[in-house]
Amino acid sequence: MKKLLTAEFRHETDRFCPEPADMAAYKLRCFVDGAGFVRTFRNIKNEPGAFIDFFGERDDIELIPVLGMEAMPSGPVTEDVYEYARTRILNALREVKPDGVLLALHGAMVAEGGHDDAEGDLIADVRGIVGNKIPIVVTLDLHANVTPKMAAMADALVIYENYPHTDMYETGLVGAQIMDGALSGRVWPTIGYHRIPYLLPMFPTELPEIKEFEDLCKEYEAKDGVLCCRLAHGFFPSDIEEMGMSVVAVTDNDPAYAQKIADTIGDLIWEKRTQLVRHFPTLDEALAMIDEPHTEKGPLVIADASDNPGGGGLCDTTHLLRSILEKGITGVAFAFIRDPESVRKCVSAGAGADVDLMLGGMSDPAFSGGPLPVRAHVISLHEGFYWNQDEMNQYARSRLGLTAVVEIAGNKVLVTSNRPQPFDAEVFRSVGIMPERQKALVVKSAVHYRNSYRKFARKLVEVNLPGYVVPVADGLTFRNWKNK
Ligand SMILES: [Zn+2]
Repeated sequence: MKKLLTAEFRHETDRFCPEPADMAAYKLRCFVDGAGFVRTFRNIKNEPGAFIDFFGERDDIELIPVLGMEAMPSGPVTEDVYEYARTRILNALREVKPDGVLLALHGAMVAEGGHDDAEGDLIADVRGIVGNKIPIVVTLDLHANVTPKMAAMADALVIYENYPHTDMYETGLVGAQIMDGALSGRVWPTIGYHRIPYLLPMFPTELPEIKEFEDLCKEYEAKDGVLCCRLAHGFFPSDIEEMGMSVVAVTDNDPAYAQKIADTIGDLIWEKRTQLVRHFPTLDEALAMIDEPHTEKGPLVIADASDNPGGGGLCDTTHLLRSILEKGITGVAFAFIRDPESVRKCVSAGAGADVDLMLGGMSDPAFSGGPLPVRAHVISLHEGFYWNQDEMNQYARSRLGLTAVVEIAGNKVLVTSNRPQPFDAEVFRSVGIMPERQKALVVKSAVHYRNSYRKFARKLVEVNLPGYVVPVADGLTFRNWKNK
């Protein structure tokens, strides 16, 4: 029986965010050992869930999970966390002596202790132990900053195709299939890699300006001898030297062909990069849409992209809510402001009470907008969790923590203790609000929310306000990026 070692260790690092990804942040989201890996991810539609489905019941291959670790995007991973995961994975390699290594990583992790290319360093360490004859297959997020080191040290890198990431599970399956082929001797994956030093805005893959390149990748992926061909968008808030977009093609034992594909697509994207820009309405324009005359059914959804907790936002900026209240707009349901202190006040007051709150805005006011003084009516109190119902990370649990739903001047606001990204409309249903029936919704999300909310919204609109994870790189000062 062949032994396949697997682990998940994930973080998307936003160097503009003041909170680190420490052990507490991992324990809040996901921190499990090998046994917990199967318990946690079985039947979840993500990469580890796919690995378990593909290899879990095989009698020729034994899947040996080491750990599963996820934290919400934030500032860098602390050194103790990185060393813990790295040491656990490397020790397991020495002990198990596997025939293959299948890792679910993100690709935009920065760790303290000098690991700007945290995944590249980790894959290199794995390679150092297993040598060149053992296949290393790694799945990555579409927002990976794929580095030359990652491409050199892995045998295959398989990147999500979709933003919103509705294909986490399918990406896991492709990684598993490549690994299965390598373990059985049917294929030997070889990588072609091309980096494009362009800082792409947060860009939904359904938009035609980028879809043409996604489609080109798909065309190559369908060709004989090509195991996968993917485009990584990169993640500029990581601010590392080698960030940006990249194309990774994986062929069956034909590195020259893989390189040719990656170069062909990469050169084309570079040539046409000026089409890859995004325009956002101003806050006033977006808010004016709430009460604009319309015939379509369903709410307007406004996404506060710059405070997206799925990119490093702390989910407590007050710019949008302040403006709604100042303009006297009503009928908005707002997900959400993370403010544990205000939640505690609501809990002490109890449902049905009125409370004075200094809501959100707890970090630097230049980013957060500062706390918002409000008189709030406590509608309901909740333990604060739900299971994602739509395609992205489907059936995984999101933890809001203790949550109060309050009414402020005719609007319903969720005030939470934690900050999962409210990309699934179940966040509203879980606290008794029917999202379909609201005039307008506000969500702290950049792009992921589109998948769930477009099913009933009359219109989706994203705004670019001050925050820790603005959706375009213009105007940011990078310390580490080398534009080459
Ligand atoms: Zn992503």
